[in-house]
Amino acid sequence: MTAQPRVLTHVSSRRADEAFYRVPVTQVIRETADTVSLLLDTSTVSGEAFTYRAGQFLTLRVEIDGSVHDRCYSMSSAPMLDRNLQVTVKRERGGVVSNWVHDNIDGGSEVEVSGPGGVFVLGPGEDREIVAFAGGSGITPVFSIIRSALATSSRRIRLLYANRDQDSVIFAGRLDELINVYPSRLTVEHHLDSDNGVVDADEVRTFVLGVDEDADYFICGPGPFMDTVEAALKTTGSDLERLRTERFVKPTISAHANAGASMTETVGIRLNGRKTVVDYREGNTLLQTGRAAGIRPPAQCETGSCATCIARLVDGEVTMMNNDVLTQDEIDDGWILTCQSIPMTTSVRIDYE
Ligand SMILES: Cc1cc2nc3c(=O)[nH]c(=O)nc-3n(C[C@H](O)[C@H](O)[C@H](O)COP(=O)(O)OP(=O)(O)OC[C@H]3O[C@@H](n4cnc5c(N)ncnc54)[C@H](O)[C@@H]3O)c2cc1C
Repeated sequence: MTAQPRVLTHVSSRRADEAFYRVPVTQVIRETADTVSLLLDTSTVSGEAFTYRAGQFLTLRVEIDGSVHDRCYSMSSAPMLDRNLQVTVKRERGGVVSNWVHDNIDGGSEVEVSGPGGVFVLGPGEDREIVAFAGGSGITPVFSIIRSALATSSRRIRLLYANRDQDSVIFAGRLDELINVYPSRLTVEHHLDSDNGVVDADEVRTFVLGVDEDADYFICGPGPFMDTVEAALKTTGSDLERLRTERFVKPTISAHANAGASMTETVGIRLNGRKTVVDYREGNTLLQTGRAAGIRPPAQCETGSCATCIARLVDGEVTMMNNDVLTQDEIDDGWILTCQSIPMTTSVRIDYE
């Protein structure tokens, strides 16, 4: 008899409904030369569709020249403090949607967004210290978490915030204001690459000296920054049980060590009670394999951070490029993130139920 999978206790935010709503943009705030915040009035949507937790993201859908693009943006607003929901978008060189947002959205525009998701969130209630690492636009969910924790708990917070140079620092003034209001609870260390080069392991180790043993850790920023911080933390003996990471950039199969090593010929997918067998095309994840066959599996961040795309591996083997969500126990129980899974064996079967 097949063992029943245990319930995924910490994967709390799967949103498979893909409901998108048009909401007004009430204001566009210029934060830095290449970053704007959009204030969204979600009160026009009834019910709980946009109830979110500090650290979560929404999905923005835009149509540009006849093509539809979905992109995730973390809330930089704090749920208990701000009436309007706010996202903060940094221009990405050559990026389709971020540049379109900068060049086309103003106060009075409407945007199409779907409800929040993600597990890079502030846990409830406790008084544990918070240690956060943010790089560039990675400050957006961290800013929400910091403001929420300061306002709703007595937690102490340390933030290491890395940027290219002073002009790139998003929310610089607002962070200073928070330090003034909470001088004994909030410490912010700014790192500027222009002064000191990029963040290295020694800086991370020094930054966490004296941190409480049971602290909650949050890391969000460019991939190399996150890798440096995570690797350095592992050498400090810190208890990383409560480490949460959020990646903004999708890993690509071609850059993965197992690129080209897949033997897979067919993928069986069960979704909404329907089974489909698809010929596997080299270079696709399981999520992309389903989409290529006209199936619409649930998905959101596509970076391995939100768990919306989880499924059970019923047969065969996969390699996950990134996993910021599932525990080893959950993986042992057969859960996989389909957006990150490269099928490896001749035949692979997955079940989204
Ligand atoms: C959970 C989550 C939360 C996020 N939160 C935020 C946030 O709060 N703020 C924020 O600014 N961003 C955030 N992001 C990132 C955001 O979703 C977008 O990825 C980002 O805005 C870039 O989108 P884009 O359409 O402008 O770029 P894309 O068009 O997707 O391009 C991204 C990069 O790839 C390059 N590229 C594109 N096509 C090719 C190609 N064919 N060959 C080579 N290179 C190519 C582009 O030059 C660019 O550098 C988040 C992402 C995730 C997953």
